[in-house]
Amino acid sequence: MLVLAESHVQSNRLGHKYMSRIAENLIQVRQKLALNAQSAQRAASEITLLAVSKTRPSKDLRDAYLCGQRDFGENYLQEGLDKIADLNDLDICWHFIGPIQSNKTKPIAEHFTWVHTVDRFKVAQRLSNQRPDSPPPLNVCIQVNISEEESKSGCLPDALASLAAEINQLPNLCLRGLMAIPKATHDAHEQHVAFAKMKALQLELQATYPQLDTLSMGMSGDMDAAIAEGATIVRIGTAIFGQRPTQPKQ
Ligand SMILES: *Cc1c(COP(=O)(O)O)cnc(C)c1O
Repeated sequence: MLVLAESHVQSNRLGHKYMSRIAENLIQVRQKLALNAQSAQRAASEITLLAVSKTRPSKDLRDAYLCGQRDFGENYLQEGLDKIADLNDLDICWHFIGPIQSNKTKPIAEHFTWVHTVDRFKVAQRLSNQRPDSPPPLNVCIQVNISEEESKSGCLPDALASLAAEINQLPNLCLRGLMAIPKATHDAHEQHVAFAKMKALQLELQATYPQLDTLSMGMSGDMDAAIAEGATIVRIGTAIFGQRPTQPKQ
């Protein structure tokens, strides 16, 4: 049974109450997150739901915001910047989760609070140099190519310790943890194996960097396994906003 929180109910011009599709989806995703947390004997409050809003118009984000959603993830820089400008009246925490071209780091350093996809030192160094003085340091995760796929971005597990050591020296970055997009599979066992590897890597690094509190992993298709293995940020697009057009724009 869905409980209608007041904040999920909107009124149309005729005063009819309705709940948007996005509001309904958000309630279901939150319930799923809470159930997964419970089965893993974890507190739901230690898991942040990041709404992945790539290809979605600003009004969809506003709709989710009205239902209490505060963290939004964008993959494409220009599209993200446009929405940040559109929605600057809202108290949103913006996460950059797309591939980073090293000549495009400045607007990322200026406009986002989190970057999940740092996978080489050059990019990290530029982000640190270009982070303005006034906001706190930029929160970053190192993207790990956990399934060791040739075509994927991300640091290979073997290179992680040295990259973490280099990034940890940068003054305007706060190294928060690790992020992964494992090889897509419907096989629950394979999902668990990949996410458990991420957890093991985090534990190893925590011996040197106890502040590494973040594991950004789990999308609409593998959120259950990710939470079971220790995700602290799940990045959910489709289950909140619906199916995206087949080819996301670049
Ligand atoms: C698109 C995307 C997601 C969300 O994927 P869904 O399957 O729609 O939930 C999560 N993380 C990253 C990096 C993405 O690009």
